[in-house]
Amino acid sequence: MERFKNPGEDTSGEHETLKKVRPSWDEYFMRISHEVATRSTCPRLAVGAVIVRDKRILTTGYNGSPSGLPHCDEVGCLIRIVDGRESCQRTLHAEQNAIIQAAYHGVSVTGSSIYCTHQPCLMCVKMIMNAGIEEVRYAGGYPDPLAMELAAEGGLRMVRF
Ligand SMILES: [Zn+2]
Ligand SMILES: [Zn+2]
Repeated sequence: MERFKNPGEDTSGEHETLKKVRPSWDEYFMRISHEVATRSTCPRLAVGAVIVRDKRILTTGYNGSPSGLPHCDEVGCLIRIVDGRESCQRTLHAEQNAIIQAAYHGVSVTGSSIYCTHQPCLMCVKMIMNAGIEEVRYAGGYPDPLAMELAAEGGLRMVRF
């Protein structure tokens, strides 16, 4: 059992330790997006997204097949060449699934931020813009420079960690 602290005791050292282990909000939500990504069903890339407003999680999403369809990890990826590069067409992207989850539950995501394990692709950027999400905070890169161009042009804040 923990002993009672003497009210006069200097516990500032313990507060310092707590400060070191307690993540910032950005770290916290980014870590959760990586945890969400572990549910991905596409072996090509595991992506996670978390939509946040006022330091509260609204929805989460990872890349995977639409409900009722088999998953890539069961039947293989559905690879097509799109815009000159191979991509899996079976899955909805993490960002898309996070926005869809909001629609499913009737939750507005206007004025929110989206934390992503990777830079969103062009289609996701366009959906993020029209969902009223104001900024993207992402960790890893993604080879879609047009997505970055359109985000800049449309005034969508993109912050890389
Ligand atoms: Zn796949
Ligand atoms: Zn995408």
